[in-house]
Amino acid sequence: MSLGEFDLIARHFTRPARRNPLGVGDDCALIAPAAGMQLAVSSDMLVEGRHFLSTVAPERLGHKALAVNLSDLAACGAKPLAFTLALALPRADDAFLAGFARGLFALADRHELDLVGGDTTAGPLNLCVTIFGEVPPGQALLRSGARVGDELWVSHPLGADEPGWLGDARLALEVFRGTAGLRVPGEAFGRLRLAMECPAPRVALGLALRGVATSAIDVSDGLLGDLRHVLRRSGAAGQPLGAVIEADALPRSPLMGEQTQALQLECTLSGGDDYELLFTAAAADHDRVLQAGERSATGVRRIGRITASGGAVVVGRDGQRLATPWASFDHFRL
Ligand code: ADP
Ligand code: MG
Repeated sequence: MSLGEFDLIARHFTRPARRNPLGVGDDCALIAPAAGMQLAVSSDMLVEGRHFLSTVAPERLGHKALAVNLSDLAACGAKPLAFTLALALPRADDAFLAGFARGLFALADRHELDLVGGDTTAGPLNLCVTIFGEVPPGQALLRSGARVGDELWVSHPLGADEPGWLGDARLALEVFRGTAGLRVPGEAFGRLRLAMECPAPRVALGLALRGVATSAIDVSDGLLGDLRHVLRRSGAAGQPLGAVIEADALPRSPLMGEQTQALQLECTLSGGDDYELLFTAAAADHDRVLQAGERSATGVRRIGRITASGGAVVVGRDGQRLATPWASFDHFRL
């Protein structure tokens, strides 16, 4: 059955706004951040064939469209408030939309945020969420706050069986691509696929790191590439800071641990689609970082330190420098 544009919005994307004074249906939504708070705003677009495969279940796609945006709020230490959804759809497929909305709202409910508006048009499948959060003035976690001597940390799931370890989303992609020599049992592949299709944004950790982390970014394009953004923005103009990463310290799922060393490094350091938080904190605050991890029920692992210069260097067990030949992800340089 084919729905009209306004039936589609009414049926699948209109629910009473609980925390915001005005949601879907008027020319603008109205959002009321708590008094004195700054609004944190971020947009992320998902395009079929580029950000997701056409085989993904609609429910997981709904989850991911919101999850990648929540991850940006997490990286700023902002509390989620509301989001808008701009959709281009090849057709108004009721079953697809019902599944998509289910996944989307399940995650929205978990984080108590409202869908307050959007836009819907016909076209090649394309999903764009804009998210709004709040943060006390001056307390947002920024990319620019890393200092020489800071420890470098990355988040991870708590349990070995939990999906979403660093690099697992990339490993799933390699399996889909049929990369030679890659053997993954079916049950384990299900877990890898969840990492790729259902990332868990680290919102609670981002909030717990306010006042503790000196800088933060979420890993969406690969750890090394995202780290370089932090080093560049935290250094003086034209003089990025450096970092040393200890390869052995990188958190990995048991399944990742079974792969060749080269594949492990490539997936964990340049994979992307991880949505873990990569952050820095003063060495004196080591225990406060561990406490923030505990408070937010999120794993945190120290993987290295910030240095004065020299780029991002990865070292092995005996301190020798390892090659890191992968280019970081860039949509226009493929
Ligand atoms: P306008 O013509 O003012 O741009 P539209 O006709 O596009 O408004 O949309 C009607 C209402 O439905 C608006 O309140 C808009 O925010 C909302 N809306 C449109 N598409 C979506 C969507 N995919 N999800 C949530 N709300 C939507
Ligand atoms: Mg419109």
